[in-house]
Amino acid sequence: MSADVKTVQVALGERSYEIKVGPKLIANAGQYLKPLLRRARVVIVTDENVAALHLPALEKSLDEAGIHHDAIGMPPGEGTKCFAELQRLSEWLLETGVERGDLVIALGGGVIGDLTGFAASIVRRGVDFAQIPTTLLSQVDSSVGGKTGINTPQGKNLVGAFYQPRIVLADTSALETLPKRELLAGYAEVVKYGLINDRTFFDWLEVNLDRIVSGDVAARTYAIVKSCESKAAIVAADERESNVRALLNLGHTFGHALEAATGFSNRFVHGEGVAVGMALAFDLSVRLGLCPGQDAVRVRRHLERAGLPCRLADVPGELPNAKGLIELMGQDKKVVDGKLTFILARGIGEAFITRNVDAAALRALLEERET
Ligand code: NAD
Ligand code: MG
Repeated sequence: MSADVKTVQVALGERSYEIKVGPKLIANAGQYLKPLLRRARVVIVTDENVAALHLPALEKSLDEAGIHHDAIGMPPGEGTKCFAELQRLSEWLLETGVERGDLVIALGGGVIGDLTGFAASIVRRGVDFAQIPTTLLSQVDSSVGGKTGINTPQGKNLVGAFYQPRIVLADTSALETLPKRELLAGYAEVVKYGLINDRTFFDWLEVNLDRIVSGDVAARTYAIVKSCESKAAIVAADERESNVRALLNLGHTFGHALEAATGFSNRFVHGEGVAVGMALAFDLSVRLGLCPGQDAVRVRRHLERAGLPCRLADVPGELPNAKGLIELMGQDKKVVDGKLTFILARGIGEAFITRNVDAAALRALLEERET
């Protein structure tokens, strides 16, 4: 096993697992998965885009390790996280003869990880699953922490389960085929970890942005490891989001409203919403006198340099007015007793959770479209 491969531990008692980060993990998956298997067979769930690009390498590695495999390719896109596809997938898993103790592999982005993890949690009341995330977003965020689920007409991720994988293989080589826009959307979540509680990491990102974007494997590995360590620590402290796990929603209350305003479409993807949302969270923190203005400037400058949107004016199409946006924020599932939860910051790396945000300051911020 290569020295370039790093390990992050997710410490959750008997549900603990390792995240492996580095190049060629798909091509070597057999050797990482074999020790986890009760019998030499797995099933692979992927989407059609990823199947065309990365399934052959995974299958070859499993063949070399003498592991039998079946695979299903789901339609790509957020629409696949739905009851109909969950049913189809669950029935397919049963038809392939999946038993308790068998391993289901999610090979793909967050859509495949969320759907597969949820199916694994309910089929035969729970079969083992492994995550092989292939987008930057899924490597630094969705594959870590055990939230799985699907969308319903009532909203995103409203039906699901906490269900931890047995292992995560975050293969930096998979990122080489990822479209730039998807890479940047994932990068917004990387920046988030710096902003939450690690100013030194944010400093490092400022210096190493170009290496990460251009594909430097060592820089990407470092950024993914730091992100996973950060998320793992927060999840270990609060697996079911009773308190500190909410910090991971920095930028997400604003971002969610912007995604909703753009119809949760490809026009404006999640990571782009998070980028604008984080810039707005820092602006609001400055307006409330909590955060030095220069920190908000640094955040916006960095997002801009990465090529991410960071202003309301960057959101394509017409947006609702401030009142409309605040209403959309209220539909976020993080609302408790009708009160919005905000993640604000006392500076870069000093985020905190609050339910008491001055409504007038919030409205004023959202009325000012150029910020
Ligand atoms: P995605 O899974 O839709 O992948 C984005 C696109 O990239 C898809 O078209 C996919 O086919 C393609 N793709 C994937 N890997 C590729 C590769 N290596 N090369 C080329 N194309 C590739 O989206 P995503 O951004 O990975 O994940 C978004 C989902 O993750 C959302 O449903 C969101 O709710 C969920 N999410 C979950 C959590 C969690 O904690 N469970 C956290 C964050 C996000
Ligand atoms: Mg997110």
